Amino acid sequence: MGKIQKILVANRGEIAIRIFRACTELKIRTVGIYSAEDSGSFHRYKADEAYLVGKGKKPIDAYLDIEGIIAIAKDSGADAIHPGYGFLSENVEFARRCEEEGIIFIGPRSTHLDMFGDKVKAREQAVKADLPVIPGSGGPVSSLEEVQTFGEQNGYPIIIKAALGGGGRGMRVVRSADETAESYERAKSEAKAAFGSAEVYVEKFLDKPKHIEVQILADTYGNVVHLYERDCSVQRRHQKVVEIAPSITISEDLRTEICEAAVRLMKNAGYVNAGTVEFLVDGEKNFYFIEVNPRIQVEHTITEMVTGIDIVHSQIYIAEGRSLSDQETGIPEQKDIPLFGYAIQSRVTTEDPLNNFMPDTGKLMVYRSGGGFGVRLDAGNGFQGAVITPHYDSLLVKVSTWGMTFKEAAAKMERNLQEFRIRGIKTNIPFLENVVKHPDFLSGKYNTSFIDETPDLFI
Ligand code: ADP
Repeated sequence: MGKIQKILVANRGEIAIRIFRACTELKIRTVGIYSAEDSGSFHRYKADEAYLVGKGKKPIDAYLDIEGIIAIAKDSGADAIHPGYGFLSENVEFARRCEEEGIIFIGPRSTHLDMFGDKVKAREQAVKADLPVIPGSGGPVSSLEEVQTFGEQNGYPIIIKAALGGGGRGMRVVRSADETAESYERAKSEAKAAFGSAEVYVEKFLDKPKHIEVQILADTYGNVVHLYERDCSVQRRHQKVVEIAPSITISEDLRTEICEAAVRLMKNAGYVNAGTVEFLVDGEKNFYFIEVNPRIQVEHTITEMVTGIDIVHSQIYIAEGRSLSDQETGIPEQKDIPLFGYAIQSRVTTEDPLNNFMPDTGKLMVYRSGGGFGVRLDAGNGFQGAVITPHYDSLLVKVSTWGMTFKEAAAKMERNLQEFRIRGIKTNIPFLENVVKHPDFLSGKYNTSFIDETPDLFI
């Protein structure tokens, strides 16, 4: 390994642009790919060179065209591929094909994707590393009787999860014994349809926990550091909506314990590159491992704002074979990693909060964003005249704000969201404003049920 000269980003939208920017800062050339539907999308023009991918394929499948992407990487002379999040980022076959072709995959090894892509295997790893896990079936369940016995022994509610699930999908909460038969059947068929495998497992469903996750960086020499935690409890349908770094409610002791547990797991697994270990926190002291995301995440921005560490730069350095202690990477030793102030991220989407978050499409007639001190904007097609199509996820722009105190970060967020002027397309901005000014949000009295149980957010 040596210095990477040219990186192909196998993704679209804001994350592709985020990665191009990091590459340019490191004097690395960039290659973009775009589907036919994305021929007018901004990420295409933000790359030094860009190529059409997946000709004749469906809009999503274009970005899943493994051989097409590898061919573009080879033809354009890219020596590395960054997969971003979603699409091929956790695809074992893709990482393996890159390894075979001598292209650096900027992420963990294919063996780690295999280990952590399957939540049943991930849980086994967590148990091996002595992390607390939620009482569960321990392995896949193969009959309705098993689910019912688990429910009887542990009490309802329980949650049936797809082993290969992700993105908040492939989960079903079962509140009583008489719901098990239908839920089990539906969970299996949904898992099969969405993730290609009907394998499911069962866990106790915790009552209103917080979702706390730890950002990890690991080099190829076995050094692992954490960049503290994020609180991603503000969720809708198990999907994150607003994220905070660091958590404003956990104690110093619990923070240390959770961060150390995350490092222990990743060290034990021989993990490489950036990753996130996710936990549910129940009460003051109890935390449980739920899963590992072996990739960059949407909400990495707020960790960057409170630690000053550029996670995409770090990913590239690690992929070049540099050690975390290499001075040039700018990554301090664990004990010196700063945690400075508070950051909040809001995911602005083209969804109508007053119509059950139905995605909206069409032309952005007006697009004016906020700005000012302590504000960071990561947009995909965030410009006047952009056409929002129904083909991809509805994330329009990530608004992240920083403040010395949490209240200050929240005030900046509210002011920024108010400043946005978007016409022609409906967005969830009014809803996000209601979240970030809500007294329960500001005082930390929220958990993963906050949105479901707070009807005044929808006014
Ligand atoms: P995904 O991979 O789809 O993101 P996760 O396993 O990370 O799924 O869970 C996403 C969210 O679902 C969690 O943040 C939490 O809100 C909820 N959840 C998952 N498992 C449980 C559980 N056992 N008890 C309560 N909530 C859960």
